[in-house]
Amino acid sequence: MVLQVKTTFEVNPLFKIYKSLFDYHHDACFALNLEGNFIMFNDAAVKLTGYSKEEALQMSFMPLVENHAIDGVFQLFERIVQGNHESFSTTIQTKQGKDVTIFCSTIPIVMDDNRVLAIVGTARNTLSSHDDLTGMPNRQQFEEKVTIAINLYKKPQGKLLGMMYLDLDRFRLINEHLGYHIGDKLLTRVSQRINSCIRNNDVAARQGSDEFLILLNNVSRQEISLIAKRISNTFVKPFMIEGHEIFITPSIGISLYPPDADNADDLIRKADIAMDQAKKEGRNNAQFYHLKLEKKISDRLEIENELRKAIEKNEFILHYQPIIDLGKNEITGVEALIRWENPFRGKVPPDKFIPIAEETGMIIPIGEMVLKKACMQMKQWQDSGLFLSTISVNISIRQFYQPNLVPMISQIINETAIDPKSLTIEITESMTMDVEKASKILHDLKGLGVNISIDDFGTGYSSLSYLKKFPIDYLKIDRSFINDIAKNKDDENIATTILLMAQNLGLSVIAEGVETNDQLGILRENRCDEAQGFLFSKPLAEDEMKQLLSPSRQ
Ligand code: C2E
Ligand code: MG
Ligand code: MG
Repeated sequence: MVLQVKTTFEVNPLFKIYKSLFDYHHDACFALNLEGNFIMFNDAAVKLTGYSKEEALQMSFMPLVENHAIDGVFQLFERIVQGNHESFSTTIQTKQGKDVTIFCSTIPIVMDDNRVLAIVGTARNTLSSHDDLTGMPNRQQFEEKVTIAINLYKKPQGKLLGMMYLDLDRFRLINEHLGYHIGDKLLTRVSQRINSCIRNNDVAARQGSDEFLILLNNVSRQEISLIAKRISNTFVKPFMIEGHEIFITPSIGISLYPPDADNADDLIRKADIAMDQAKKEGRNNAQFYHLKLEKKISDRLEIENELRKAIEKNEFILHYQPIIDLGKNEITGVEALIRWENPFRGKVPPDKFIPIAEETGMIIPIGEMVLKKACMQMKQWQDSGLFLSTISVNISIRQFYQPNLVPMISQIINETAIDPKSLTIEITESMTMDVEKASKILHDLKGLGVNISIDDFGTGYSSLSYLKKFPIDYLKIDRSFINDIAKNKDDENIATTILLMAQNLGLSVIAEGVETNDQLGILRENRCDEAQGFLFSKPLAEDEMKQLLSPSRQ
């Protein structure tokens, strides 16, 4: 057999080219005859196995195979001899007796008459196959496992391979504010929670920083959704690390083999694109990949570029939405809501650009400008004798955790000479992920004399214990509960429970998104303090808002 191979190839000048490729390849390369004896063995193979070329050419591959892997490797060899391509991971034993895990790809050399002549293969040491921190497989090892799963995939009815790309929301803030050692501990604990949600034949790996990859074998779309839900649910409970109570949520992107991609790399890339979408959908959710997402990525880059210019050109204005005191039936406050007016795009709604501004850091100058404008406007209305007790300004998480947040607000209060009682800062539940840190910031803010309001209440965590720790003045019940309050008993129950709880805690409640008289009726019955919504007024431009305000009584 050895002779036959030589005479077939050596007369061909291409042989020299192929042989050089083989000899100098940095992966171990070898060829076997049908009995499993080595007939070619390159330098990298010598380095990997510890056997010299001369020794290897006198032996079969069997002495290299570790005892427990013999059966599996033998079956694979049979399949290759029958003409199949195979990629697999296995552990080999070097001449010096050391175990080395390798990833091996083999190809049968098939002649015109379909006879298999020989087998060529490459092997690579996957020594650094695990992530040191979590002990999970690393990206390379994971990709190899995915490749194997793809190669072994035979279409069972309706079942697929599922790829999840999981990214922790706002993990950066944990590293920045609590330090890397807490961040590392959190990642380890997260890896344990992820592993507890998947089955034995699934694989979870650490892709890098706060990103994890999960391969789900033999699943339907529905099953993948369920597993994603199960994973999200394990994050509901806070992580207790060195006395810090940390809330964190995952954003998950999902792609499927075979519909979305035909190789491991592409499958992971598409799950990543879907994960990006999950972030844009407000984080803490799971999204499946679909082709339209590729277009959304280029749209997003465009918005990002234009947003940079918009700051320079000052294309932002504020609109104001009245907040009504339901006891007195009068406007008691307004919420300042940002508007971006772009000459080409027209009016861009905040949901479209705030998340991008937040991710890129542009929210810092934008947020400061909003605060300044809102305070100046409030002062102007009050000075012209109009009655308004407070103006609410939304701040984003990135602003919230800026070290200079409190001095910045204090400076704006001084510069605009506004009474701090007339300013309300709106934060969301999700910003309080680190309860201690959030509590400190909120107390410092409170020290300035401003009011604090929890926006979109009910959409964040289930833990309410923090409400007692934070110096809060208002809870704003999220629009999604108010929406069906008059139609859906569950939503009514949630809303009335929040109202009761808030009354017990001595907080005022503002209902958001009130659109009908039926909704208003239920809110009144349950002694809701204030309300905001299209039933009273849409957000208005400055001059329209001014028309609605009545003269101050004092
Ligand atoms: P939000 O703070 O919860 O503001 C209320 C949103 O609900 C506003 O949307 C408002 O127009 C809308 N809304 C009010 N009443 C009704 C109603 O009856 N029905 C319906 N369907 N919607 C109603 P908008 O102005 O598009 O703002 C969306 C979000 O963008 C805000 O939600 C807030 O989270 C964010 N945002 C707005 N301005 C700023 C800002 O200056 N800074 C930051 N960081 N975020 C902002
Ligand atoms: Mg708000
Ligand atoms: Mg809201």
